[in-house]
Amino acid sequence: GQSKPDISREKSTQLYEKAKQYFPGGVNSPVRAFKSVHGVPLFIEKGDGCLIWDADGNEFIDFCCSWGPLILGHNNEKVRESVTAALQNGLSFGAPTALENELAELILKNNRFIEKIRFVSSGTEAVMSAIRLARGYTNKDKIIKFEGCYHGHSDSLLVKAGSGLVTFGETSSAGVPKSFAEETIVIPLNDRKAVEEAFSQFKDQVAAVIIEGIPANNGLLIQEKEYVHFLREITQQNNALLIFDEVITGFRLGFEGAAAYYDVQPDIITYGKIIGGGMPVGAYGASNEIMSRISPDGNVYQAGTLSGNPIAMAAGIAQLSVLKSGVYKSLNSKALAFVEALQRYVSAKNYKVKIFSAGSIFWIAFTDKEHIRAASEIDPQSMEKYKVMHRELLNRGIYFGPSGYEVGFVSNAHTKTDLEKAKRAIFESLEVVFRN
Ligand code: PMP
Repeated sequence: GQSKPDISREKSTQLYEKAKQYFPGGVNSPVRAFKSVHGVPLFIEKGDGCLIWDADGNEFIDFCCSWGPLILGHNNEKVRESVTAALQNGLSFGAPTALENELAELILKNNRFIEKIRFVSSGTEAVMSAIRLARGYTNKDKIIKFEGCYHGHSDSLLVKAGSGLVTFGETSSAGVPKSFAEETIVIPLNDRKAVEEAFSQFKDQVAAVIIEGIPANNGLLIQEKEYVHFLREITQQNNALLIFDEVITGFRLGFEGAAAYYDVQPDIITYGKIIGGGMPVGAYGASNEIMSRISPDGNVYQAGTLSGNPIAMAAGIAQLSVLKSGVYKSLNSKALAFVEALQRYVSAKNYKVKIFSAGSIFWIAFTDKEHIRAASEIDPQSMEKYKVMHRELLNRGIYFGPSGYEVGFVSNAHTKTDLEKAKRAIFESLEVVFRN
């Protein structure tokens, strides 16, 4: 269990010093600032397949994959060619293009769970719009969300649990009016009683329950199928909608995402990440009936200058075409073999580690619990171990997201050899973590 010497971060440090003059915290999205792990953030110069290179020329096998979009890896040939072709015709028109039809057709013909879709430019926008649609459709205001689920940074959703089992939420960011937070009820995951109490306490006021397909923003909190079906039933009984936020799980667990994984029909599904192949795209979809409420057909307003942007559509079309042609089986079994090998190793070593996974999403948790299904079951102390592991991994050429609450992604570009190499680095890093 020897620590490796730190990689050079000379150029990254220089870039970060400059960036701090330009951006709050030196970044354009907070987790990137490496606040929960060792050292300055690495400035990435390029990626190819499962590899990325930073400004100092360090090479890494990447398990962050831009936080999920790059299911085919970096610089995928099909995606690059599709984008390059679209580029020849101009970047944006603010008018309909055939490319939007093409991506929509690819999705709707191969997804039993939605009939109509609307493209936006981020996951945040997709979920924000879905919430508005649910409120407009039901004529009710309150939404139920779960502690440990992230749904982007719109006002209604930057809300954390209050003190009671069922309470109005409290804002989790300055700048969110208390009156907004009061429209969001936050309850623990995997707790039927909390959902029942919320519905009885706020009778006829709940527009929707929103849950991540598989909660993957606060560790990987895999919910049981029965529980997800319970959510489906209780929402139906209360004339509330069930929103599946599939920004991570959509096109990740399979082409039909978590809806197929759990075999449940949500009322609205939101997408992001993979749908844009690395370009800024989000989307929300539902039945024809629910989607008919969106402007200009209906009175729920939602719009976007760059919505359905042709370059972004081209990237999405290429990526989803490759996925549809059959990637999931081999990707998911490759990821499972990787996860199982890690689990065998930590079990043999008697380390307090459990690797949770769903398809090609995995989370290394420093715990001896058999399952972690709710945010409160995560020991915040365990993040210190993640911090040590993260540093050791970087020093061995493995790039994980800079927070122990974040999941990892295996892409189709990770070969068995890459995963073998990563496995050895993870073993060595864990030996450092547990050396005392
Ligand atoms: N929902 C979920 C489930 C997410 O994981 C994210 C982003 N991690 C979002 C919404 C917000 O997406 P974006 O960052 O594209 O706005």
